[in-house]
Amino acid sequence: LPPVITIDGPTASGKGTVAHRVADALGFHYLDSGALYRLVALRSQRVGIEVDEVKDLADLAHGLHLRFRGDKIWLEGEEVSQLIRAEDIGNRASALAVHQQVREALTARQRAFRTRPGLVADGRDMGTVIFPDAPVKVFLTASVEARAERRYKQLIDKGFSANMEDLLRDLTARDARDASRAVAPLRPAQDAHLLDTSDMTVDQAVAQVLAWYGQ
Ligand code: C5P
Repeated sequence: LPPVITIDGPTASGKGTVAHRVADALGFHYLDSGALYRLVALRSQRVGIEVDEVKDLADLAHGLHLRFRGDKIWLEGEEVSQLIRAEDIGNRASALAVHQQVREALTARQRAFRTRPGLVADGRDMGTVIFPDAPVKVFLTASVEARAERRYKQLIDKGFSANMEDLLRDLTARDARDASRAVAPLRPAQDAHLLDTSDMTVDQAVAQVLAWYGQ
């Protein structure tokens, strides 16, 4: 099987940026697994399925028609790359991600990204559940303040409105839910390298991950 580098961590820890850059440096594919949960969130919201209607959510997750090309994502033929970044979609994604059946419905789709020459997979359970045999696992963290500031900048850059107080509250609530859920809780794999990026530049974090990979 082609190599995988897993990069897990809480919301806005910088995983997306770091994972992307590591993938570019190695010429590897990149999996943004959070996007899959966000796509289920957007689609279910549109068709009127509630976040506790587990069977319907799992069926929907199985049947989603998706296309990934570069940074863009299509859902049922519509380009939704920006739409799924909205904060309410992230919160809805976190609410439906607690269900085992929903997670299982997305498992094969995630593993299918593992193709030559290799994959960098970003998420919450990449190292613990989806790719437990990954040769390099990283768990990224940063202080809640550093993460709220990053998320604030991201949202403003994408044209969304944002408010620091709401963000801090939502981040804390989302992290608590992701860490305390019974299924695939957010936690470092036993063999993960821990990387606190609060006081690191993106370049430093990328260099560290590449060094762990042996490059
Ligand atoms: O990473 P992102 O913020 O896009 O993920 C949205 C939500 O999807 C997370 O808060 C988390 O609850 C869920 N998720 C997950 N497992 C993953 C990736 C995301 O449960 N591998």
